[in-house]
Amino acid sequence: MSAQTWLTVDSDDLRHLPVYQGHPTRSKQQYEGEHGILSLRFRQGWSGFLAWMESHDACVTIFVISDLLEQDDFSSLLRDALNHFGTRLTVGCHGHTHRSWSAWGEDKAGFAAMLSRSTALLKEHAGESFRPYFRAPSGYVAPWMAEVLASEGYKVDSSVNPSWLVRKKAAGHRWNEVAQAMKTNGLVERPWLTAWSLPVNGPALFRFPLSLLARRTWKGTGPAFTESELHYVEDEKRVHATVYCHILDFARNKGEWIPPLNLHRA
Ligand SMILES: [Zn+2]
Repeated sequence: MSAQTWLTVDSDDLRHLPVYQGHPTRSKQQYEGEHGILSLRFRQGWSGFLAWMESHDACVTIFVISDLLEQDDFSSLLRDALNHFGTRLTVGCHGHTHRSWSAWGEDKAGFAAMLSRSTALLKEHAGESFRPYFRAPSGYVAPWMAEVLASEGYKVDSSVNPSWLVRKKAAGHRWNEVAQAMKTNGLVERPWLTAWSLPVNGPALFRFPLSLLARRTWKGTGPAFTESELHYVEDEKRVHATVYCHILDFARNKGEWIPPLNLHRA
């Protein structure tokens, strides 16, 4: 049987996308929507996400961009979902503003300040649902970030997309150097699932022809963690697959899209 699977979802709204902000060369466009409130597409995605959560009983970790918690609309949606789904839904950190940290060069002080602010907000809003798990915005991660993550109390990093196709996101390092830095600093690295060394998560689910491989790979994953199994992600001796999609993806197909997994209710 295939290894078990850690289901994760990233909370990016449209304004967070690298095309608008957070990256030294990719951010070229001005976001035209309103700041300070959720986009309509995010709201549609959130509804789809909740409906999907109702359709299975697996546990899911949502990596939250913490500037969303400075908005009443998102913080109340999150609070309601955490109340409703209980320990099936946990919260990790996806940065405060979705800055592509490794694309800017080493900045331990800036990263530490961001992480401290973000972690405080996440703990305040997610309470017991918070987990010290980090995912670098857009997968931009470098070895120097590991020490800062450790000093802020993080136990798991899930930022490495171990594919040659996106190797420049590691800022001139190899992916295994990032993983080694995490290990040296006491973190467990949970790289994203790949197939034939190609990406199968996030945007790869929708980019033809990668999407064909991605969907097939997701369908072949093993059973998702239940709430009592989630702590396995902190145990470096255990092996599992890690997959992720976005809240915004659930707005696709008129709100009907769901991750291509074989999930069901027990
Ligand atoms: Zn993201």
